[in-house]
Amino acid sequence: MIREFLELHGEYHDDKYFRDLTTVKMGGHIAHFVMPENKQELKVIVNYLKTNRIPFKVLGNGSNLICGESEYEGVVISLKKLNAYEIRNDEVYAEAGVMVPALASVLAKEGYSCLEFAAGIPGCIGGLVYMNAGAYKGSMADVVIEVEVLKDGELIWLNNDEMHFSYRRSILQDHPRWVVVSARLKLKKKPKEQIEELMADRLRRRRDTQPLDKASAGSCFRNPDNDFAWKLIDGIGYRGFSLNGVCVSEKHSNFIVNENGGKAEDYMNIVYQIQDKVKEKYGVKLVMEVEKFNC
Ligand SMILES: Cc1cc2nc3c(=O)[nH]c(=O)nc-3n(C[C@H](O)[C@H](O)[C@H](O)COP(=O)(O)OP(=O)(O)OC[C@H]3O[C@@H](n4cnc5c(N)ncnc54)[C@H](O)[C@@H]3O)c2cc1C
Repeated sequence: MIREFLELHGEYHDDKYFRDLTTVKMGGHIAHFVMPENKQELKVIVNYLKTNRIPFKVLGNGSNLICGESEYEGVVISLKKLNAYEIRNDEVYAEAGVMVPALASVLAKEGYSCLEFAAGIPGCIGGLVYMNAGAYKGSMADVVIEVEVLKDGELIWLNNDEMHFSYRRSILQDHPRWVVVSARLKLKKKPKEQIEELMADRLRRRRDTQPLDKASAGSCFRNPDNDFAWKLIDGIGYRGFSLNGVCVSEKHSNFIVNENGGKAEDYMNIVYQIQDKVKEKYGVKLVMEVEKFNC
């Protein structure tokens, strides 16, 4: 029944695994996977799932998710086909599935300053808005004009204030059934060379300090107030710690990498060990930035 409905309203698959759809390459089978072609299809699908009380999860590029090995019996909705964007004078309209590094490059080539901070963040517009992703003192909160959200069956626009952005947070995290459909971001004209140079410098810094050649979900923990998670992890001697193919990166100890077919259970085991030891030694509660799902 679910399958027949989804087949009518998007590209349907029943042979997808989270391990193939997440950057950390972990996670089990997905019972139903669907890619709507446009926002009308998305609306129909989400409304059907809500009415029938069927669990669902929206997926961007899977770069902030640790998914368990057991089958996810709900529906994963991938927004990869909602990937249109348009530059209009001093703003860009981008659908939720647009990959941010690609958009950052296009904007740079056109001489628009906006997403320099995000050039190395391997996610989609929807995921970056959801997380208020950021780096180098910039974040989505600085560039979002408004966000189109599918909320309670209707498409509405929430302005920047209404998104309640704060450090790696937005209102969406309090409403897991709302879906980001698109966003309008503000642009500033700047010399193209200046933008490209800044982006290249930041990408170089990432390559020098982060294990970009390994499967990961980025920084595992949020930085606590006035401190850095990596320093606390180093302080308890966990840099390089490894368990069943999952390792605390030697290059950046706030990255937990999947070196060899590691599982979410091992990732989470390391997370809990680090949290306990950091709490014991420093009295600090490290909070995950990465989201665990279905585990
Ligand atoms: C190498 C590496 C470097 C990274 N560097 C950074 C960094 O510098 N700064 C930073 O902030 N993050 C960083 N990250 C983490 C990650 O890229 C960001 O959190 C990003 O915002 C996740 O986007 P995504 O599209 O992959 O989201 P996903 O991982 O697919 O999803 C993340 C969450 O957002 C929800 N979501 C996704 N799309 C939508 C939508 N359209 N509507 C509603 N909810 C949605 C999902 O349900 C899920 O709860 C890094 C990750 C990696 C692997």
